Amino acid sequence: MTEEIAIIPGDGIGREVVPAAVRVLDALDLGLSFVTGEAGDGTLAETGEALPDKTVSLVTNADATLFGAAGETAADVILPLRSAVGSFANVRPARAYPGVDALKPETDLVFIRENTEGVYTGIESELSAGVTTLTRVVTEDASRQIAQFGFEYADERGDRVTVAHKANVMRTTDGQFLEGVADVAEERGVEYDTALMDALAMHLVMHPDEYDVVICPNLAGDMLSDLAAGLVGGLGLLPSANIGHDNALFEPVHGTAPDIAGDGIANPAAAILSAALLLDHLGYDDAGSRVRTAVEKTLEKGPHTPDLGGNASTEDVSSAITDRL
Ligand code: ATP
Repeated sequence: MTEEIAIIPGDGIGREVVPAAVRVLDALDLGLSFVTGEAGDGTLAETGEALPDKTVSLVTNADATLFGAAGETAADVILPLRSAVGSFANVRPARAYPGVDALKPETDLVFIRENTEGVYTGIESELSAGVTTLTRVVTEDASRQIAQFGFEYADERGDRVTVAHKANVMRTTDGQFLEGVADVAEERGVEYDTALMDALAMHLVMHPDEYDVVICPNLAGDMLSDLAAGLVGGLGLLPSANIGHDNALFEPVHGTAPDIAGDGIANPAAAILSAALLLDHLGYDDAGSRVRTAVEKTLEKGPHTPDLGGNASTEDVSSAITDRL
């Protein structure tokens, strides 16, 4: 069966790193077919819509999607796309690689971020001039679902689980989150640690080696994974997977990087590692491992883009990775 992959480069460096990742997927000769869709600031300017229905259909009908980044329209693009694939879990591995000058070379952890609620519900309002509110939604179902996914993910790898929260202040919402996690842990008969997310931010910087799998509410997962990017050498290295029950979308953790967009020097590693997660998800485990090994070898031996201290282009790095497959 030919699997169909929706390719949505989006804006900024998404238009540079996603084609690089597609070249790698193509080089594997797995018989995947690719359909490309438009979304983001450029699409809004051209068509009046940041996320045309046509693009949403491509994503819902595809077996999996590779997405780049969206600029100002990010909330109007990526949140609906994550929901189009029914994504409830955002998986963000952060690991340091030999050959890359990492602040903390011992870092090797995975954030499992709740992907549907928390403060990303978009329920905001201006009560009166100068007075604004945001509604944070935390449900038993979503908390249990992310806990189930996170514990299963950790079990498969024999990893420890830490659960991030701020239930000492957000007593009702993060209280609900912790309750959902505790129920699932009890049903599964597993142990885990909890950590206040602010203290965890500090501890992750000082002792990242003490963590394996970190289950987080939505915003905390977003912020802590960027923090971890800083520990391992930058955002150019972090892939992610948005997992749903029947579909999934893969994207680098970074955004459009407007400061370097168009220069052809964006690091394609995060997008290519996202493509490797896509391959794992579709059951092409060998191909996924081959891609990861080729990326690791390239990070170790070069060439490197400027974010990693080199002067190679996106094209140089993706060619080196393809050659090493
Ligand atoms: P956006 O608003 O789209 O999120 P941003 O600049 O706020 O854009 P990122 O795109 O995540 O956030 O970029 C943050 C910083 O990391 C920028 O300095 C950017 O150049 C750098 N960066 C991000 N991704 C890469 C990459 N793939 N290669 C090199 N540098 C990167």
